[in-house]
Amino acid sequence: MDFRPTEEQALLRRTVREFAEIEMRPHVREWDEAQHFPTELVTKLAALGLMGIQFAEQYGGAAMSSIDYCICIEELARVDPGVALSIAAHNGLCAAHINLFASDAQKQKYLTPLASGEKLGAWGLTESTSGSDAAGMRTTATRAGQCWVLNGSKTFITHGRVGDTMVVMAVSDRTAGTKGISAFIVEHGTPGMSAGKKEDKLGMRASDTSEVIFENCRIPAEQLLGEEGQGFVNTMQVLDAGRIGIAALAVGLAQGAYEAALAYAKERKAFGKTIGQFQAIQWKLADAVTRIEAARLLTYRAAYLKDRGERTTLESAMAKLYASEIAVKVTDDCVQIHGGYGFVKDYPAEKYFRDVKLTTIGEGTSEIQRLVIARRLLARA
Ligand SMILES: Cc1cc2nc3c(=O)[nH]c(=O)nc-3n(C[C@H](O)[C@H](O)[C@H](O)COP(=O)(O)OP(=O)(O)OC[C@H]3O[C@@H](n4cnc5c(N)ncnc54)[C@H](O)[C@@H]3O)c2cc1C
Repeated sequence: MDFRPTEEQALLRRTVREFAEIEMRPHVREWDEAQHFPTELVTKLAALGLMGIQFAEQYGGAAMSSIDYCICIEELARVDPGVALSIAAHNGLCAAHINLFASDAQKQKYLTPLASGEKLGAWGLTESTSGSDAAGMRTTATRAGQCWVLNGSKTFITHGRVGDTMVVMAVSDRTAGTKGISAFIVEHGTPGMSAGKKEDKLGMRASDTSEVIFENCRIPAEQLLGEEGQGFVNTMQVLDAGRIGIAALAVGLAQGAYEAALAYAKERKAFGKTIGQFQAIQWKLADAVTRIEAARLLTYRAAYLKDRGERTTLESAMAKLYASEIAVKVTDDCVQIHGGYGFVKDYPAEKYFRDVKLTTIGEGTSEIQRLVIARRLLARA
């Protein structure tokens, strides 16, 4: 067992950190206020390999490991969790689904432009009446000759408006339950596909989120992704890996909040001392850094197992649950340490506090993670 990062991993962290500090930090507040997804950043992210972090070089990817992926997402989230969420959804949901289940021809056609950053990915599972209960989806896919016809809508889709390539789950056989759900690749601009309402969000406002509507949207039969009827089963596998990314996002976000709190504790004075000299503040900082390290270890363990090709349903859910919940606590303490300045936009504390809540909701709520963990434990007994 070796807990040290390799030289390459240390360099990767420094590189992504420097990128985030220079290219993102000066714009964080502006993007948040304007709810602006910085498409202008995508080419620069792509130059670092961050649009295709874990995909093979033959498809334009950077062929990094799952632990490397965590490092990248952490460092983006430390500065702007909204941008990190977008990069996680593009890499860890849309492109990952294609990478895992597409044919070689589909990968050449769809994964290569995604991994090179030429195109932006979206992934549609959630609907207005089915989130946690994803199998209760209503969107249908009906076979019509050499086409599939999609009807329905998807809710809360990251890059629903700005995405170029979307993986969509739909019911292809109503009688077959979860085995009647299939996945499809749909390109932006296909007649019958349109973006609906853009969500006005509490946090993660630099990440585009909207509804996507399908009205008699005809796509060629070769845009079925994976086997017919395997869309839901495949989705669970995509989420096993995706949740490691959200755990890393929560770790990076908590790290950013902790660093902001530490810096403030060293500079703010009360009763003739810096507030960092008060034990009440010291304990918050000590607890924060301990929780973050524990969450990071759980996250890296899940990533390490994924890199070994093992199933990580349990470990991914544990990492996502723990990292997101401690991140909520760390950002809460960060606001508290800032006092009144934690409540205003001149300091980063309030934004971390708003952004963090998504990590206990997206890619499965905390309640669903507990359910997944308990199911795995009971299945073993
Ligand atoms: C910013 C943002 C980005 C997103 N991006 C995407 C995306 O790109 N693609 C996509 O497909 N989805 C996306 N989502 C959707 C997200 O995954 C869902 O919101 C999430 O899974 C929860 O579903 P829901 O909102 O329908 O909540 P519900 O499922 O309605 O849950 C409501 C509450 O009930 C609880 N609950 C539900 N079932 C149970 C149960 N069995 N036991 C105990 N408690 C339960 C939940 O934990 C929660 O507290 C995004 C959401 C947001 C906010």
